[in-house]
Amino acid sequence: MSEIILPPATIGILGGGQLGRMMAISAREMGYRVATLDPTVNCPCAQVADHQVVTDYNSLAGAQELVRRSDVITYEFENIGAIVADFIQKHDCLPQGYHLLYATQNRLREKESIEAAGVQVAPYRAVNTYYELNKAVQELGLPIVLKTCQGGYDGKGQWVIRNEAGLTELAGLFAKPQDMVAEKFVSFTKELSVIVARNSRGETETFPAAENIHRNNILHLSIAPARIPRQVAQHADEIARKLAIHLNLTGTLAIEMFLLNDGSLLVNELAPRPHNSGHYTQQACITSQFEQHIRAVCNLPLDKPRIDRPTVMVNILGKHLDQVLEKIPELRASCKVHLYGKAEAAPNRKMGHINVVANSVEEALETIDGLNIWPKL
Ligand code: AMP
Repeated sequence: MSEIILPPATIGILGGGQLGRMMAISAREMGYRVATLDPTVNCPCAQVADHQVVTDYNSLAGAQELVRRSDVITYEFENIGAIVADFIQKHDCLPQGYHLLYATQNRLREKESIEAAGVQVAPYRAVNTYYELNKAVQELGLPIVLKTCQGGYDGKGQWVIRNEAGLTELAGLFAKPQDMVAEKFVSFTKELSVIVARNSRGETETFPAAENIHRNNILHLSIAPARIPRQVAQHADEIARKLAIHLNLTGTLAIEMFLLNDGSLLVNELAPRPHNSGHYTQQACITSQFEQHIRAVCNLPLDKPRIDRPTVMVNILGKHLDQVLEKIPELRASCKVHLYGKAEAAPNRKMGHINVVANSVEEALETIDGLNIWPKL
């Protein structure tokens, strides 16, 4: 599907979380209508959409209803079942296609496709049994990061093996064979990410690399521009373009990378959608990752993004929410608070983020420190 989709066409979004919500807000600003599919009534996206289909993500009946109501379909998360993806593809309303979603739904397939594009990942082995894990440890050496092939996020489904005792502890995981990847633990100097978008006519545009800082495996800060030498930023950009073209991207792809001591880059993970580390674009760039995504899916011309204003994004988890709400009356307008409208604030649930715009990233980081909400780095 490569036609141009014009407003007031309806964009159907599979999944109704915060990414869907922010896509929907951009789409509505552009004059599109939005339908979303999500099992939770009044989910973040439904609050700003024209219509919600309330079904399970993998309901064929739900997918049929979303397709009936929409001119084009996109998704805000990658765990979409093959039956639903297949149905939507057959109706020729998923410009992004299923190939990239399929590759990124499984860590092993993902790594294989990154390597096939000629891009480097950390040394790894596929492991299904405890015997294979031991073999991987012998071949790669400790420490090792063991990751489930499917369904892991924010450090869930992930174990760091530092020594023999740690290895023995994991024997129980393999009571039944498991699809896992054992990966060499990389001592990186920084984590970076690049968001790349591509439309059906092949225009490919990248957002400048962000520098990401995690706390307890959950993204805490995205610093834009990343504090890296120009050549590294250029290399990160080249990797993103290479992957977008090789993987025949339509839509948006987020690429997480490790920067090593010697200046080289390894790709850690892909997400075939807008990404938490791209939220900074809402304030730093003329076109946010969400608008760029809608433009890509609707086959409109893409922006050539650049950072106009240094911006640091800080995530608001459930445990931070009350303090953020208390501070809002004294926050300057250059601290843009984005809240997702989630009903339940579990301690580690992403409830919103703040984009702090400043004259420099150092100034933005000081502003965040000064709020005294997040423990100091
Ligand atoms: P992932 O789920 O693959 O994004 O991993 C979550 C976080 O774990 C990453 O952002 C890194 O901070 C850390 N991590 C993942 N893989 C490795 C690795 N091979 N070496 C060192 N740290 C890692």
